[in-house]
Amino acid sequence: MSNMPAGSGARGSALIIGAGPSGLYLAFQLGLLDIPCSIVDSLPAIGGQCYELYADKPIFDIPGFESIKAIDLAERLWIQAQIAKPSLQLNRTIIQIKADTSGGFLVTSRSTQALSADADDAETQYFQAVFIAAGVGAFATKRLRLEGTQSLEGRYLFYSVLPTIPTFKAKQVLISGGGKRALSIAVQLLQCPQALAPDRIDLLARNGLRPALDQQHEALLDSVQQAAKAGRIRIHKGVITGFELPDQAIKLDAVRISLRDEPRNAERSLQSNLVIVCHGLSPRLEPMLHWDLGMTRGQIPVDTARFESRLPGVFVIGDMASYPGKKKLITCGFHEATLAAYAACDYFFPGKKILLQYTTSSPRLLEKLSRGARPTE
Ligand SMILES: Cc1cc2nc3c(=O)[nH]c(=O)nc-3n(C[C@H](O)[C@H](O)[C@H](O)COP(=O)(O)OP(=O)(O)OC[C@H]3O[C@@H](n4cnc5c(N)ncnc54)[C@H](O)[C@@H]3O)c2cc1C
Repeated sequence: MSNMPAGSGARGSALIIGAGPSGLYLAFQLGLLDIPCSIVDSLPAIGGQCYELYADKPIFDIPGFESIKAIDLAERLWIQAQIAKPSLQLNRTIIQIKADTSGGFLVTSRSTQALSADADDAETQYFQAVFIAAGVGAFATKRLRLEGTQSLEGRYLFYSVLPTIPTFKAKQVLISGGGKRALSIAVQLLQCPQALAPDRIDLLARNGLRPALDQQHEALLDSVQQAAKAGRIRIHKGVITGFELPDQAIKLDAVRISLRDEPRNAERSLQSNLVIVCHGLSPRLEPMLHWDLGMTRGQIPVDTARFESRLPGVFVIGDMASYPGKKKLITCGFHEATLAAYAACDYFFPGKKILLQYTTSSPRLLEKLSRGARPTE
């Protein structure tokens, strides 16, 4: 999407919002029906909840697999989807869908990073139909909910990234978070050449450092623990409770923290002029709440024949779809994707009767499947 000028997307293509299992399988179904599609996801990788919430866990209720690791399922679905040659835009969040007078939709997206920095890099593109496969919401960085944070963002306060500044000299860096991302940032700072290194590094985590999930994580944990023993980084159990901005100036001098082992409400000041918050990601529904699709409790009502929302041309599948008897299971998303893809043919091939074809015996589909390209991303 980023290389397209505003409003100039290819006509006759479909947008899939969400690269979770439902969105990925939908791309395959659209490919069988010759409907070109683009997939956009706010995460940096495909897989939706399978990637973000339980990548290394085995799933036992996918038909045909006694068990399959969540991340492997996402990878296989992506390979299968190559029949549609979908374009994939990661790290982008769809923020608006507007019906266009020509019958399609103008869809606006922003980079997920820009959402947390309140920067504007919005782009708009035209699509013939939109499929919302947005699960439990757009995954985005968890932000601090403290007074004064907004004025500090991008200068003294960063989320999950090490700012690109020429030197960390004279910086007292506070990293908030006990997971792999926080450790990785700590190690990058610890590895700075002496002349560019921060004056001081603190790491603050509510419950201390989390146990390692993989080998890379273990190596990071080991480096940080060694550095702590050598007095090069201080590790505290606690949370940030506020910021000290002298004379109302927009300049950070110190951070208020509350330590776990101290009495409740006992705050102390920690000298710090650069804060990096790594509190992970959480799903956000905000963009979708304003799309006038009748969202209730995080789900959008659809009919069970077409999986179309109350706005013709906008389909909803997977965890975000709501109808009597809905189950938030991957296999249900596969069924919904199949029926929604067939229903969307009304918009792509108006007036044409679409016959059901089997992948085992349809010469057209067999030819198409034999050409199925390998993923390029
Ligand atoms: C711990 C756990 C274990 C589970 N185990 C099982 C199991 O054993 N079997 C089973 O069947 N199910 C299981 N589930 C449920 C299963 O993961 C979900 O049903 C499934 O992921 C839903 O797929 P989806 O494609 O609808 O949505 P998701 O997987 O949630 O993917 C939606 C994607 O859309 C993206 N998105 C949302 N809004 C936007 C936007 N505005 N712009 C751009 N991108 C957006 C999100 O970032 C996300 O990546 C489990 C869930 C959890 C949390």
